[in-house]
Amino acid sequence: MAKPVCIKCETFMRVRKVGVALEERIPTGAVNETGDALYGPYKLWAGDLLACPTCGAEVVAAFGMYAIAEHYEEQYARTVAGYAEKGMLYVAYDRPRAHP
Ligand SMILES: [Zn+2]
Repeated sequence: MAKPVCIKCETFMRVRKVGVALEERIPTGAVNETGDALYGPYKLWAGDLLACPTCGAEVVAAFGMYAIAEHYEEQYARTVAGYAEKGMLYVAYDRPRAHP
């Protein structure tokens, strides 16, 4: 299977962490006082963190076919917290947003 490639460096990315979790967040429909959309948890995916050995750019890839947890499930928050405590949690939004 082809690995992700850093096109800037023309180099295959290397696995940095196996079995990380990516929390997919979606708009809640609400906005904050400055009009920015608020996001909430949706699905938790398992994947690997890969990095470019040259420039250090990172991506999460190699996801399984199904989410490992969904926001409405009773154990969702506990599962997310477990990954966060181990430094294995990343998040993703459906569009670019201002970083706090
Ligand atoms: Zn690179």
